Amino acid sequence: MSSREIQPETRLPAAPVSDPAARAGGVLTVDLDAVAWNYRRLREELNGVACAAVVKANAYGLGVDRVAPVLARAGADSFFVATIDEALALRPILDAAGFPGAAIHALNGPLPGTEADLLAFGVTPVLNTLEEVDRWAALARSRGRALSAALQLDTGMSRLGLPDEEIAALAEAPERLRGIDPALILTHLACADTPAHPENAMQLARLRAALERLPGAPVSLANSSGIFLGRAYHFDLARPGVALYGVNPTPGQPSPMRPVVRLRGRVLQVRQIDAHRGVGYGAAFRAAGLTRVATVAAGYADGYTRHLSNAGRVAFKGQLLPVIGRVSMDSVTVDVTALGRDAIGAGDFVDLIGDGHDVDAVAAEAGTIGYEVLTSLGARYHRIYRGDDG
Ligand SMILES: *Cc1c(COP(=O)(O)O)cnc(C)c1O
Repeated sequence: MSSREIQPETRLPAAPVSDPAARAGGVLTVDLDAVAWNYRRLREELNGVACAAVVKANAYGLGVDRVAPVLARAGADSFFVATIDEALALRPILDAAGFPGAAIHALNGPLPGTEADLLAFGVTPVLNTLEEVDRWAALARSRGRALSAALQLDTGMSRLGLPDEEIAALAEAPERLRGIDPALILTHLACADTPAHPENAMQLARLRAALERLPGAPVSLANSSGIFLGRAYHFDLARPGVALYGVNPTPGQPSPMRPVVRLRGRVLQVRQIDAHRGVGYGAAFRAAGLTRVATVAAGYADGYTRHLSNAGRVAFKGQLLPVIGRVSMDSVTVDVTALGRDAIGAGDFVDLIGDGHDVDAVAAEAGTIGYEVLTSLGARYHRIYRGDDG
């Protein structure tokens, strides 16, 4: 092809005409029916206790605009996000889906200067400090009406929520809550994915002791894994996130959840190399013998973490194949020698996640957790949403 033939038209087209899936290096499929199934499965485990949905970080990377309406239709009427911007973005999504009354909680608290937006968008702030309690109560008094808020207690995680001394101070001076309609008291488990960990029972005891001293309100403790710690951990409202998206909330045991994500990467090129040839940056892999190498179009810029260098595996028609060499920004190299000659070529897809090699398996290979694999999923993948036609 001569260079003259690939000059752009003098007038640019309004949009590309090729199929976006044909242009993408990776295709990410999100199974919305599986998200709804997982929500119902958690409800079953909760046996009548209410179940919120945590959709922070763009629904753990899967697309909050698609995922939140599915969860609302499955029965969730209470949502949690981390930041104020996430809360403000969620309100019109739920409105448009026909759920204007759903509760939206912003876990990171009400930052100064954001009050008008929180009120206008009907966001329930999670108050994490006495300063935030005082500020929200003062706002309520200045508006001349009760304002709802959730109160987070620190029962052992030392991350967010009123620490012991602030719980005590509030118990001594409950009038500081005047003007606040306490919609929820919550705390978060540090070790819920390890049922035998003594910290679980300690946090439960600290929560119970704090509740004795505070005004009555519905109580929320369990995240995904916490739901599987049993009835004592359920209280009035559970707050699962990651299990909705197919990550196993019971590590070491068979997953009760359905996989939600499939990520396929396109093979760009296959080559055969001789013994001793290096593969990738740093020549961090050297072929021991004749080796066939497939280059797949996803790299660390797509969230396919560099920690998978010489450690990850991909699946092709149910067969696992090792990642060799370092993960590059835009590609990763895979040893496909075990496949028959010509069994794989340019244009074929391998499963980076899926086909029996799930998010948890990829996370283990990368030395991280399913949460991080999902929330790192990049923006360059072509995304396909399956199921739930709304
Ligand atoms: C993220 C988060 C959750 C959800 O946790 P999962 O482990 O994803 O179920 C619940 N509560 C709080 C406070 C959180 O930060």
